Amino acid sequence: MAFTIDLSGKTAVITGSNSGIGLGIAWEFARAGADVVLNSFTDNEEDHALAKEIADATGVTARYIQADMSKGDQCRALIKEAGTCDILVNNAGIQHVAPIPEFPAEKWDAIIAINMSSAFHTTAEALPMMRKAGWGRVINVASAHGLTASPFKAAYVAAKHGVVGLTKVTALETAKEDITCNAICPGYVLTPLVESQIPDTAKKYDMTEEEAKEKVILDRQPSKEFATVEQLGGTATFLCSDAAAQITGTTISVDGGWTAL
Ligand code: NAD
Repeated sequence: MAFTIDLSGKTAVITGSNSGIGLGIAWEFARAGADVVLNSFTDNEEDHALAKEIADATGVTARYIQADMSKGDQCRALIKEAGTCDILVNNAGIQHVAPIPEFPAEKWDAIIAINMSSAFHTTAEALPMMRKAGWGRVINVASAHGLTASPFKAAYVAAKHGVVGLTKVTALETAKEDITCNAICPGYVLTPLVESQIPDTAKKYDMTEEEAKEKVILDRQPSKEFATVEQLGGTATFLCSDAAAQITGTTISVDGGWTAL
């Protein structure tokens, strides 16, 4: 039997998808035929224009729903407003870089809320919908930092390890159903989140931004190349295919060899 990836008839909700990896995943899902719900905490014309662009280019239904993933009730409201959620991608994320003694407590709380707790709230709301539909896919965008650590990223590393743990529990609780849950663990992908880390990294290591990119940021990525948002979208789409139906509770690294070191 040949495996094809046709997601028509499915609705995918992707948190934090008005830029970067989330937007890349939304595009790949739409190209595979899924209706998509984009999200972020803003409610600008440009946000809604992104959904229109996807709908116009692919013919699927695409909507933008504003919801702040730092707030549990808004995470749940996003899924309720979507109405259907066959595929849930927990992708919203922020970063802050500082040594532990100087790490601002409010940044710790925000990173834990947005990068980890939001996935608990959306999953709690989406699983009953998936059970009713008899099919579901939960994809958590974790990180190489869900499997390994770096200095100065206490909250991010803690949150991403937490997301990998939540992925395993979700998989076990749905193991007997046609529902899977996996985490994608990207290495460095050139998105606004990474670009914003370049000046801080350069300052910390007293380097130019170009040196910081090559010698520090890609230091642990043996391929010495950034992964692309299209590659992340392709990986997420594969996880929704029939070929991936027995892949659950695990992590898939897209990191140019980082975690093989
Ligand atoms: P990005 O900054 O382009 O995207 C982050 C998204 O989250 C944006 O759409 C942003 O609007 C949204 N967001 C932030 N705060 C939010 C909130 N309170 N409520 C709703 N949405 C919110 O960054 P990205 O690199 O595309 O990151 C996406 C995910 O991938 C994150 O979870 C990040 O940790 C993870 N990741 C990124 C990389 C990388 O190299 N870029 C590597 C590993 C993991």
